Amino acid sequence: MTDSPTPRWSLVVHGGSGRLNRANVSIETDAGYRAGLAAALAAGAAILEQDGDAVSAVEAAVRVLEDDPHFNAGRGAVFTAEGRNELDAAIMDGTSRAAGAVAGVTRTRNPIRLARAVMADSPHVLLARDGADVFALEQGLEQVEPGWFRVEERWQALQAMKAAAARGESLFDKTLKYGTVGAVARDAAGHVAAATSTGGLTGKRWGRIGDSPLIGAGTWADDRSVAVSATGSGEDFIRLAAAHEISARVRMLGEAPQAAADHVLAELRAVDGDGGIIFAGHEGSCGWSFNTPSMLRGRVTAGGAAEVRIYDDE
Ligand code: ASP
Repeated sequence: MTDSPTPRWSLVVHGGSGRLNRANVSIETDAGYRAGLAAALAAGAAILEQDGDAVSAVEAAVRVLEDDPHFNAGRGAVFTAEGRNELDAAIMDGTSRAAGAVAGVTRTRNPIRLARAVMADSPHVLLARDGADVFALEQGLEQVEPGWFRVEERWQALQAMKAAAARGESLFDKTLKYGTVGAVARDAAGHVAAATSTGGLTGKRWGRIGDSPLIGAGTWADDRSVAVSATGSGEDFIRLAAAHEISARVRMLGEAPQAAADHVLAELRAVDGDGGIIFAGHEGSCGWSFNTPSMLRGRVTAGGAAEVRIYDDE
């Protein structure tokens, strides 16, 4: 879906793609997802409405979702096979194409803040694991005990996966529900930005890192084309350089962002990949594309009412 005519600013958020349907989501959980998405939109919109910049808006929106235990990012992140929460995040400024990302952090309350600090206050783009947490400490970012991220439902999901593995089923099932969060925005000055944050996949091991913190795979922003944040089977998004591929189609083929996104999602399907993306185009369009039964998503544009959706028939 795409919007027209061009709004002064636009903001889209997602809370992960997956296999949710009305039969497997309780009324309370459904309402919790929608409230979280609405709060994230409100946080970002407040900045954009004051002529704030797109980078600040996407960071603010993602922080709300990181703190909300309904989503697989920050508090509420999924567990690794060893029973830990290892968090990944990235942010990108489409104006300068400055970018910052972190992978496998375990103590920083808001990984997206840390990603922004990497972008703004370090000469690097991607910091990982203990070193990234040390940088967070040096930056004065809030640190928490690892237990702060723990949510019982995510813990039980790991136990169920381990029980399945004990029965000889695969420990790694990429068709499971995802829950990564992300935001993209186009501000009143016409600049775009993207941010993504995740706990990754339940049962991940060996230091596995997905697409979310990889610039060009799960996160990308370029004022000449589009800002993109992805969710889904991360390995497939990495192999397709999916977020950058959408941008490249817009910039070099002149495709509309929606058409470019739909094309790359079809390519994802062709390599057996699951997931979705949200986009904010340089020309003012915004929306999403996904190939899963659900994607938690919402958007708001200047002067318009916020909308949030979960299932593919909404
Ligand atoms: N794309 C994420 C990853 O592979 C998972 C997700 O979207 O929930 O780490």
